[in-house]
Amino acid sequence: MNVGPVVALSGGVGGAKLALGLYRVLPPDSLTVICNPGDDFDHLGLRICPDADTVLYTLAGLANSETGWGRGGETWTFMQALAALGGESWFRLGDGDLALHVERSRRLAAGEPLSHVTENVARRLGVRARIVPACDAAVRTTVRTPGGRLPFQHYFVRDRCEPVVTGFDFEGAGDARPCGAALAALADPSLRCVVVCPSNPFISIDPILAVPGMADAIRAAAAPVIGVSPIVGGRAVKGPTAKMMRELGLDVSNRAIERHYGDVVDAWIIDSEDAADAAGFDRPVRVAPTLMRTGADKATLARAVLELAAEL
Ligand code: GDP
Repeated sequence: MNVGPVVALSGGVGGAKLALGLYRVLPPDSLTVICNPGDDFDHLGLRICPDADTVLYTLAGLANSETGWGRGGETWTFMQALAALGGESWFRLGDGDLALHVERSRRLAAGEPLSHVTENVARRLGVRARIVPACDAAVRTTVRTPGGRLPFQHYFVRDRCEPVVTGFDFEGAGDARPCGAALAALADPSLRCVVVCPSNPFISIDPILAVPGMADAIRAAAAPVIGVSPIVGGRAVKGPTAKMMRELGLDVSNRAIERHYGDVVDAWIIDSEDAADAAGFDRPVRVAPTLMRTGADKATLARAVLELAAEL
């Protein structure tokens, strides 16, 4: 069996769960996680990278399992003090989390590329996987709604995903290029597989694929690309994926997820609950439990991904 390295494409919580499963079952130093840049934004003078930070905190064992974002065991003195001053408090930043944003912003201002900062911070937190953004340049998801275009965090956090979506734009993507570490990981001739984690296709994975050269580098990789569907039993496990699919006129189904990714993904894993859907797929499908509630669930799904890759 190929025991080479693995590349995972991830958004926030859904993606980070499988990234953690892969991290646990693979040898150290053999996982690269390419993170969604589209949720990043500048707030309170700081660069915030929510999805990369969720992956970082999850792999470092520091994540807040209750909120799904930020660090566990946080204190909120900064936020309370800011609110008392009349500052913007709709986007919650815990005191420990704040240190990451301050340090990242300082290094970016000094001219360090985002991918270096992200990789370096991961190492400082003891993570032996490479965590990198899809690109160093700013790519910003904006959400098209009947009332106009909304910056992603205004749609997602401030407006709680309530506006109807009619489409998405990834501003800045046209001028971006994949960061060197992402391209190097994808070009490794010993690559074992590329994993498209069960993340939101529209707002977590598409911004990664929108970076010119990224989809081609994935297609050209010397390894199969395995997708894990984020849809289970006609619903999203969490978040607005199913709502967005309905609003965009798509079926909330595994098959619609397969169609969305087209030839970027070579084979799929869908949930055991949806075994009947396998017959409608164009590409190979493996049926497996995909709900990742425990550490064991994550590791089992990660092994299923690696087994499917080995069979292709
Ligand atoms: P976000 O950026 O925090 O919204 O996280 P992602 O985009 O990475 O993940 C959101 C997607 O993950 C949603 O579509 C969920 O349905 C899916 N998801 C979350 N947890 C699981 C899980 O345990 N299994 C599967 N199959 N999908 C999941």
